[in-house]
Amino acid sequence: MSGTLSLCATPIGNLGDISERVLETLSLADLIAAEDTRNSLKLLNHFGIKTPMTSYHEYNKFEKAETLIEKLKAGQNIALITDAGTPAISDPGEVLVRRCREEGITVTSLPGPCALITALTLSGLNTRRFVFEGFLPSEKKERREVLDALKTEERTIILYEAPHHLKKTLKELSEVLGNRRIVFCRELTKKFEEAVERTVDEAIAFYEENEPRGEYVLVVEGRNPEERMKEEREEFASLSVEEHMAKYLAEGMEKKEAMKKVAADRGVSKREIYAILSAGSQK
Ligand code: SAM
Repeated sequence: MSGTLSLCATPIGNLGDISERVLETLSLADLIAAEDTRNSLKLLNHFGIKTPMTSYHEYNKFEKAETLIEKLKAGQNIALITDAGTPAISDPGEVLVRRCREEGITVTSLPGPCALITALTLSGLNTRRFVFEGFLPSEKKERREVLDALKTEERTIILYEAPHHLKKTLKELSEVLGNRRIVFCRELTKKFEEAVERTVDEAIAFYEENEPRGEYVLVVEGRNPEERMKEEREEFASLSVEEHMAKYLAEGMEKKEAMKKVAADRGVSKREIYAILSAGSQK
């Protein structure tokens, strides 16, 4: 019988956040696959865990996944840990999980610390609907595409960012999203934990004077729906009733439904729209 891959969430700063179940799983596993074995050795030593470790990181994630799959198939139980937080979130864990699922190997996840959730809960921004983007792509074109897509995003946006990229990212956020509110979260779960709200412009000025330090989670407010409605109203005002109808019909709406929507958009009754359209068709 195959073994199990256990995704073990580890602390993002405060060792007290490790769970009993994670400690037990790490102790009983045949092997621990870790993103940075030197870093994880400190964690394992702290808790007196002697399980052998092997490396599983960004630069060996595809080949090493196959080696780990063989071991799992041979019946070994493997625990996966990353540098910090929940494996498979913005780290190579995702690749190994996918391969295990393809091979029918059991995967279980032991929940625990995760920087994005910790930051979101601290932010005071809308937590009901949010989108996690992780690190923005480093390639210029891809990065711009992601940012452009975020322009109209109304849900709260969560980004991971390294200190040496923060100023550049803020400049781009200012260009694409405008002067939004952002909660800058750093040193989460540690002694000097911070969750400071600044507008993009305030942050640009602040980081001109103060060098960014530590890893950041940026919790960015989504676009205000009223802004979208204002733009839509302006767009509708520039259309004739016929053009407005044609827009919805082209989107595949039924005539009756389109008329109702046009009336609502223009703040008039359906009867009025019907009258305008009938007058137009009799000309
Ligand atoms: N898998 C991890 C998780 O569950 O959040 C994330 C791994 S990702 C490689 C590392 C990023 O997480 C950092 O660059 C930073 O954006 C964020 N992060 C991790 N620990 C943090 C902390 N204590 N305070 C603020 N951000 C943190």
